[in-house]
Amino acid sequence: MSTRRFYIYTWGCQMNEHKSEGMAGVLARAGYLPADDPAHADVVLFNTCMVREKPVHKIISEAGVIAQLKEKNPTLLLGVGGCAAQALKEQLFRKSPAIDFVFGSANISQIPELIEQARARRALGKPGWVMAVDKIPDKIEDLPFLRASRFQAKVTITEGCSNFCSFCIVPYTTGLLRSRLPGDILAEVSELAAQGYKEVQLLGQNVDSYGKDLKDPNITFANLLRALTEIPIPRIRFTSSHPQDITDDVIALFGEENNICEHVHMAVQSGSDKVLADMRRGYTTEQFLQIVKALQERGVNVTTDIIVGFPTETEEDFQETVDLVKRARFGGAFIFKYSPRPGTIAYYKYRDTVPDEEKQRRLEILLALQKQITDEENRKCVGQTVEVLVEGPARHPGFLMGKTRDNRTVVFEGSSDLIGELVHVTITEGSVAGLAGQTSSGLYTFAGQGPAKMKPTRSVQAKLV
Ligand code: SF4
Repeated sequence: MSTRRFYIYTWGCQMNEHKSEGMAGVLARAGYLPADDPAHADVVLFNTCMVREKPVHKIISEAGVIAQLKEKNPTLLLGVGGCAAQALKEQLFRKSPAIDFVFGSANISQIPELIEQARARRALGKPGWVMAVDKIPDKIEDLPFLRASRFQAKVTITEGCSNFCSFCIVPYTTGLLRSRLPGDILAEVSELAAQGYKEVQLLGQNVDSYGKDLKDPNITFANLLRALTEIPIPRIRFTSSHPQDITDDVIALFGEENNICEHVHMAVQSGSDKVLADMRRGYTTEQFLQIVKALQERGVNVTTDIIVGFPTETEEDFQETVDLVKRARFGGAFIFKYSPRPGTIAYYKYRDTVPDEEKQRRLEILLALQKQITDEENRKCVGQTVEVLVEGPARHPGFLMGKTRDNRTVVFEGSSDLIGELVHVTITEGSVAGLAGQTSSGLYTFAGQGPAKMKPTRSVQAKLV
């Protein structure tokens, strides 16, 4: 039998991307290899998300594409997992006949068995229709991750969330907060350090709530970070932070020389105290701005999420959000139009009263304002020499892109053997698109120019477009 291949579509956040690495690891353990294209796969998995709008619509339309591939390859199987599978279960079979099996968030290690069961049913001329969706367990599933990168690794520290913000579906689809034990996390990060990984990103819906479910006052996010600073890995990142739960001990870690990268992504969602209360966020705008100030004083680039058009948001409330964005000077922001998610508190409590055109108007105002601020903040980096982890080729041939410790994108000229390395880049240009610069590290050699030199032999600059 020839080797079977798999292809995974991932929707949603970095936590879902990491879950896909777990699905890939489970399939690799069962002898499957990754395919470069769904047309070359024997099994396609959809790892779905329900946080944003129209998730089911997207799943069904992509399943239609797989149905076309099945006409050419009748043994191709399609499995659906993630939040939509957890929530909709067997309803998915009725929505698309192309779906052969459905697996829950706690059933990832069963995927190879589900494939065999669905294959056997198909061989008998029946529809696949195999399903394993268990209740969300108390413990985070241990998976053999097949990591997408050889130098950046994602490490889950919590799953689920117990905050129940009124607009958010996460506690319903991924369950209540569950934290991994610190010893397990430290062992995983130590192993990654030994394998030569340069950067670890700690993942959780709300990393600052880490440990609250473990009922041991010594297990806190600050203590976990403190222990991770002892591991010889150059960079530790984390996402996402929550203004209600971030502590002074976590903020203080940024004032020290350590491997914690100076970037905090912390959703504010609104600049109106009334709307924040209706969203059940647990902080006021002034409290939020104090946290931002404390972080920025320690050189942290703070980025955020904002929702416009929440049902109780008036024009006055929106103007308060505009004012907050001006005061906070975020390095970047993801701005979304509110969309009601069935099952959430806001869905039942409020009517979606802000018209879509008005949401769009507010969105565009904030996007334009944030673009201007990002542009101004990035220009301030010109002249600095910064450490960059080279992530891959940039769009233009001969150029590379990477990230600073504070998570800004940098483009510069260099050869592909630098991918995965830490280099120093002097910033020559900053704009809303990011930073451009030239290398100034002994790590860099120009192609064909012999051994590494401490300085570049000619000025190489990237131009932002
Ligand atoms: S903190 Fe609020 S917005 Fe974030 S995942 Fe939990 S419930 Fe959702």
